[in-house]
Amino acid sequence: MPSLNLSQRLAPDRSAVRSARPNLAGLTRDELAAALVESGAVEAAKAKMRTGQLWRWIHNTGVTDFSAMSNVGKDLQASLAERFTLDRPEVVERQVSRDGTRKWLIRMAPGVEVETVYIPDVGRAGALCVSSQVGCTLNCTFCHTGTQALVRNLTAAEIVAQVQIAKDDLGEWPSAKEDRALSNIVFMGMGEPLYNLDEVAKAIEIISDNEGIALSRRRITVSTSGVVPELKRLGEMTQAMLAISLHATNDALRDELVPLNRKYPIAVLMDGVRAYPGLSNARRVTFEYVMLKGVNDSPAEARALINLMKGVPAKINLIPFNPWPGSPYVCSDWKTIETFAAILNRAGYASPIRTPRGRDILAACGQLKSESEKIRASTRRRLQAADAA
Ligand code: SAH
Ligand code: SF4
Repeated sequence: MPSLNLSQRLAPDRSAVRSARPNLAGLTRDELAAALVESGAVEAAKAKMRTGQLWRWIHNTGVTDFSAMSNVGKDLQASLAERFTLDRPEVVERQVSRDGTRKWLIRMAPGVEVETVYIPDVGRAGALCVSSQVGCTLNCTFCHTGTQALVRNLTAAEIVAQVQIAKDDLGEWPSAKEDRALSNIVFMGMGEPLYNLDEVAKAIEIISDNEGIALSRRRITVSTSGVVPELKRLGEMTQAMLAISLHATNDALRDELVPLNRKYPIAVLMDGVRAYPGLSNARRVTFEYVMLKGVNDSPAEARALINLMKGVPAKINLIPFNPWPGSPYVCSDWKTIETFAAILNRAGYASPIRTPRGRDILAACGQLKSESEKIRASTRRRLQAADAA
């Protein structure tokens, strides 16, 4: 399917001339308060009050300019602008699919680019699929990101920036909870969030803050290929909803599709899931299952899946395989997917098929891959030095 001609290569690379002033837009409340005081712009006694004011401007109103902060005096505005910035990272490319899906290629730093996707009509209103790493170390055989070497983990600020850029583009600063287009966040973009848990947790703390973007933690889902030792910490630190990329019902096949399974096989993974903090019928874990023709899509495997999930409050998401250039699999036939889904339905799992979205702009699950190449640490330091100059 040809992509709509809405792809825009937007700006030349300005990152090399970006200022070295620290950015306040991706800090937690505590970090923000500390930065204000340490810089000398705000006295310690007023830190709490000023942090509250700035927090609302940055995270509720979405301003990127200190001079828009009308309850902050002109002198303080000027002194903040001297010391700090609220700039967004640069959107290098923006694409809009014929089905309304939007995809942004964002340059976080020279050579560090990630993709973020907004999908309408998913969740309560629409979901933003954010990336947690540039590339991925886990080479799942059906995933485009898996073909790209890990460049690096994203910082909490870079994760939050993806949400801010989406809200800029959707015109949602501020937005009442009832009529916002961006109602859910899924960590299903590039990378394995549980290999970057501290930054992911910090980002969730910022995004869910009630006086800011105020996305409920129950509308934030973290998807993992199964990093079992981090599951408990994920639940305790974030109270986010959990999604597990299962994709196979036996270890031989899962070892092949999701190589991390060799380290944490299915039985170990399921024990970890059962122990996930806060799991209940109202807060179910989602099992993702990509439909690969002739590989994992038989009725016997549907029944095996039901068996595996016995006693676990669970939902199932069948994902029709999204092909990418050179991918070694084919998506299961629609009839096969329906037969598989019908078996799950009869066992009480409602509407488990996920409609593919944004396929025409390669924005669907597992199709994301930036051109960022892993670069030597010495080269990166040189680029960062140039960036800061
Ligand atoms: N690393 C995490 C989150 C990112 S992948 C994880 O693996 O869960 C998000 C989801 O997309 C996962 O369920 C992943 O298995 C699925 N996925 C990857 N490639 C895909 C493809 N080509 N077609 C459909 N789903 C895919
Ligand atoms: Fe990494 Fe997830 Fe892709 Fe596997 S499916 S390679 S864990 S991003």
